[in-house]
Amino acid sequence: MGGCFAIVVAAGRGSRVGGDLPKQYREIGGRTLLARSAGAFADHPGIAGVRVVIHPGDRALYDAATDGIDLLPPVPGGTSRQESVYFGLRSLEQAAPDSVLIHDAARPFIAAETITAVIGALDAATGAIAAVPVVDTLKQAQAGAIAGTVEREGLWRAQTPQGFRYGAILAAHAAAAGESLTDDAAVAERAGIAVALVESAEENFKVTTEDDLDRARRLIGGGDIRTGMGFDVHRFGPGDQVWLCGIAVPHDHGLIGHSDADAGLHALTDAMLGAIAEGDIGRHFPPGDPQWKDAPSALFLARAGELVRARQGEILSLDLTLICEAPRIGPHVAAMTARVAEILDLDPGRVSVKATTTERLGFTGRGEGIAAQAVATMRVGR
Ligand code: MG
Repeated sequence: MGGCFAIVVAAGRGSRVGGDLPKQYREIGGRTLLARSAGAFADHPGIAGVRVVIHPGDRALYDAATDGIDLLPPVPGGTSRQESVYFGLRSLEQAAPDSVLIHDAARPFIAAETITAVIGALDAATGAIAAVPVVDTLKQAQAGAIAGTVEREGLWRAQTPQGFRYGAILAAHAAAAGESLTDDAAVAERAGIAVALVESAEENFKVTTEDDLDRARRLIGGGDIRTGMGFDVHRFGPGDQVWLCGIAVPHDHGLIGHSDADAGLHALTDAMLGAIAEGDIGRHFPPGDPQWKDAPSALFLARAGELVRARQGEILSLDLTLICEAPRIGPHVAAMTARVAEILDLDPGRVSVKATTTERLGFTGRGEGIAAQAVATMRVGR
């Protein structure tokens, strides 16, 4: 049959990544790592067929993850990665490919150009692998201290895909069966096969830890975009200042409320809670609870921020409008913006505070109180 086939190795249990699910079946941006990695080869015009090697217990996960992707039927893997690759290679004996590309399912960002380059390199070489040059200075460690500096000149970090002439790598794997070699290039090297290096990209990293999953999600910007709105009103009463957005603004009245009556922070807090469907400020901080008497509302906003972060959420923008005839808000907008950004540990460029009057109409127009409305936009639940 000839042509170039791909073997995607997805048989590991991924115990280094937390959770019950093997890492190749974890999702980023709504697609599993396996769907992304296997799909990259299935979509590549230079690849004649894609065989995924799976753990025998993962068939249901595999079927769900690869629905709609044009793949050969999967084959069960062995007790080690090396054995799984060997089983995958043997499963292609009928197809008799000219060459084969072996790829880790946990590298979801394999670029089509890298696949093309590895296939191209096999015109002139028996083996060729994706790799990146080492740019960091390398240190030899001994008991937690530097024992020496390793010359990085000529050092590369091996990635996948690793491509080979099919007959050569099948024979090399057969000869290395039972050994514990770190990758297929090492199997080829052991057999005396010359392996070329094809420069790849940092993005083709292997997802091993939860931090790697977060990095992968940041790269694709995955997750739901959610929007919430908040609205709040407080009535004027006796006093000589009002709290708005965590700033004390001098005024000939105060605002009445159980807490510090900061309508601006209350509207923002409700908008954030709304975006993650966590109810409203009263649910988290009941007004009848004496511990919130005269409480600084920064506490409420900070709590909403914690709830967003607990969902791997990222606040994209906050937009607040304060509605009153007096006091004048304009002179305090910069301080209010900075304070909100500080409470949430946000870039101030993501916080908007503005003000309007109601042309002396309604309760705000008559100077009976201050209203505030807010919209929060965030990325959550990746
Ligand atoms: Mg309120």
